[in-house]
This record gives sequence, structure tokens and C-alpha cells, in this order.
Amino acid sequence: MSVKKIIFLNQKGGVGKTTTVVNLGSALAQMGKKVLILDLDSQGNLTSGIGSDGRGLGMYEVIAGKCSAQDACQKTLVDNLFIIPSNIHMAGLNIELVAQYERELFLKRALESLDDSWDYILGDCPPSLGLVTVNAMTWAQYVIIPMQCEYYAMEGLNLLMRTIGNIKKSLNPDLKILGILFTMFIKRTKLTTEVVDDVSSYFPDLIFSTIIPRSIRLAEAPSHGLPINIYDGRSNGAKAYGSLAKEVEKRVGKLK
Ligand code: ATP
Ligand code: MG
Repeated sequence: MSVKKIIFLNQKGGVGKTTTVVNLGSALAQMGKKVLILDLDSQGNLTSGIGSDGRGLGMYEVIAGKCSAQDACQKTLVDNLFIIPSNIHMAGLNIELVAQYERELFLKRALESLDDSWDYILGDCPPSLGLVTVNAMTWAQYVIIPMQCEYYAMEGLNLLMRTIGNIKKSLNPDLKILGILFTMFIKRTKLTTEVVDDVSSYFPDLIFSTIIPRSIRLAEAPSHGLPINIYDGRSNGAKAYGSLAKEVEKRVGKLK
């Protein structure tokens, strides 16, 4: 089995990273893929969003070398979908790592033994470019960048692209950007059209043709601890994430 390791990255908060990890993960699982999602954020939104209470072993214990990654994988109520949850200890991890030798490599080393067991491992990053995120960029093969169609989106994107470029040069030459995903799209206005055109002109090959609509059902689902394809499989949000799953499958196939 050849695993695909994808992280969801944008230092801007609230752009749909966590929503995309849980719902894309669940859509891929529904297609029969074996999927592991990693909650790398001390906010723990991915963990609660899939209905886990975050008890037991989690990402902190894995990265700090207190247990194996296998031992921290938990089942979810979706067949084929597993999670390594976040817990409160994650909040101190950046500071604990700062003083360590080869501090960028902790996640990669901790997850090495997992690779043969999964089709996809999806990592939900916190909204920062701190050390946990650097560890994620050092481990992953692919980045997906969720972004909202708003005026300031491009500014953050330039910094993010530079950071990914730096990591490619130093720590992970294999890292590729799989795509930019527009999320929470309301409707075509002058502004949203301009933003989409602007981003497309700088990164013509990177934009996913799937665009995730803003939808109440997508916002409600995590409070029930459910991904959208279980919460409301016929909603627009479920269809969008289903179509994204197919597009991701195609792109990783091409980039291999
Ligand atoms: P953070 O940077 O804090 O980790 P994030 O980038 O992970 O945030 P999410 O938590 O996925 O972003 O989304 C932010 C909020 O917007 C959440 O309340 C989520 O339920 C809501 N949301 C995300 N996507 C959509 C959507 N397509 N339609 C409606 N609401 C959405
Ligand atoms: Mg999040």
C-alpha cells in the first residue's frame, strides 16, 4: 500500500482546515480508502468534530515519544476512518520542542512506522507556522491550502508559499502543493470573482475545481460529532466534499 500524506495548512484561522480534514477524510473512507486523520492543533476541533472525547493517548504522546503511533490510533464511528486525537498537552508542545536537537523531525520519526497501513494520512494543522506546523511540513508529501475568497487572502498566501518553499529547500525536498481549495463560498460577487481570478493567475495549476459552499449543515455537523456525509449525505456540503475526494484521488495519482 502506498500511503499519501497530506497536511491542511493556512496560518490564517477559521478558513476551513479542520472542516476539510474531517469531511474529506470521511468521503475518502466512504470510497473504501483506509484513512487516518491527525489532530495537530491544541484547540482539538478535529477531535471533538468526529465525536472523540480526546481521552487516552493522542498526538502529544506520539510526538513526545511516550507511545507508538499505532497505539494512539482510535476508531471513529465511520468505517475505515481513524483518528489520533489532540489533548490538552498539545498546547505546551511547541515550547517543549524548541530546546530539542533536530526538533523539526519529531513528527516524521514518530509516524514512520505507520506508512504501510494506510491509504491516506491527513494532518490538521493549527493556524500558525510554529514548530508543530514545521514538523508537519517536514513529514508530509502534499499540502492542501484551504482559503476563503476574501480581500486579504492573497497576502497570507504569499507568506505561506514562501514558507513552504523554504521547507522544501531545507527539510523536505519532496513536499508538493496538491492544491488550493476555496471554502465557504457564498456566491459570485465582484469581490469573490476577483479573488478567484487573482489567485488563479498566480497559481494557475493549483486551484481545485471543487469549491466548498458556505452551508449551515457543514457548520452544524461537528456539534453532533459527525462528518457531513453521515450527518446529511444529500446536502450540498456532502456533495462538494465527495467531489473533492475524487479530485484529490486524481491529483495524487498524477503527481506520483
Ligand atoms: P482554525 O484556524 O481555528 O483551526 P480552521 O481553519 O480549522 O480554523 P474550521 O474550524 O474548519 O477552520 O472552520 C471555522 C468555522 O467555520 C467553524 O465554525 C466551521 O464549522 C465553520 N465552517 C467551515 N467551513 C464551513 C462551510 N463551508 N460552511 C459553513 N461553515 C463552515
Ligand atoms: Mg482548525
